Amino acid sequence: MTLQEEVEALAQPEGRVVGTLGHEQARRHLVERLRAIGLSPYRGHTFGLPYRAAGRDFCNLIAVAPGRDPALAPVLIGAHYDSVIAAPCADDNAAAVAIALSAGEHFLREPAPCGIVIALFDAEEPGYFQTLAMGSIRFYEDQRLPVGFHAALIMDLVGHAVPQPTPEVGRLVPQFGRLLFITGAESHADLPGVASAARVPGLPVVATLNRRVGDMSDHRIFRLNGVPYLFLTCGRWQHYHQPTDTPDRLDYPKMAQVRDYLVRVAGALARADLPSEGPRPREHDTTAFELSLLGDALGETGARYLAMAVGLARLETRADLDALAARLQGYFDL
Ligand SMILES: [Zn+2]
Repeated sequence: MTLQEEVEALAQPEGRVVGTLGHEQARRHLVERLRAIGLSPYRGHTFGLPYRAAGRDFCNLIAVAPGRDPALAPVLIGAHYDSVIAAPCADDNAAAVAIALSAGEHFLREPAPCGIVIALFDAEEPGYFQTLAMGSIRFYEDQRLPVGFHAALIMDLVGHAVPQPTPEVGRLVPQFGRLLFITGAESHADLPGVASAARVPGLPVVATLNRRVGDMSDHRIFRLNGVPYLFLTCGRWQHYHQPTDTPDRLDYPKMAQVRDYLVRVAGALARADLPSEGPRPREHDTTAFELSLLGDALGETGARYLAMAVGLARLETRADLDALAARLQGYFDL
């Protein structure tokens, strides 16, 4: 299936709110897709890993594309499949699920040294977010295999063109809409190199510190446990958590580039040693990395225009980058 077909099949009008028939149908549909693609269950004989929390039933859907060496810790690609409202919620998060499934297909065709886990998490949305019922937390704490994870790549809101923060940016920095944002490169010394080398033509990538924007999705539990991670997102937009977040509004060519980037990052991580830095969260200094990505993404002039448009005189230091992230986030806080 193409990314668009995958999104359209999953993003039904009834939505995927936990406890509803729509959620149940989505779960069955995704189990069937994991089977049809040819992935293997991550543990036991079923993709569905049920859990109970706060008196309710939930179900993570976890598959693996086996690696060449089954003893190695796998790289995890994760996205939540529940929805916030009874509506298609195409960008949140059917787009990321579609990309994760497509990545699973890729790693079946071209196995990596280690396994690639495709994790479709339940219960990420408000009501469960950062609670003990959150799918990614229950997965990490109760369902993961002892070998753990080599690295984790989490996606949320990866299906849309980034809206222009101001008309001036739209005019002066036309590539702004193509941007993909990443956080978490600070979580391991080798991540900036991997995240930089894996870039694909036509998809400018910019990075910021995760703590500048907060734990917006399922990466938190991996971060807290010292797993090297990246979070990929196009940020919030005007259709965020709205009934208007429909499949026809997504940018499918951009999604294909995000998929290509994700696959390249996952493959590179699978081949990298990533020497352990301990069980605690790390924060390496990524100032130079962030500045170089910005320059590559927007060009020197574009980066300067963007800084001016949000009221910054220069983009040279950690403080400048943090101010840029805060001001850009301000435009997208809806
Ligand atoms: Zn959401």
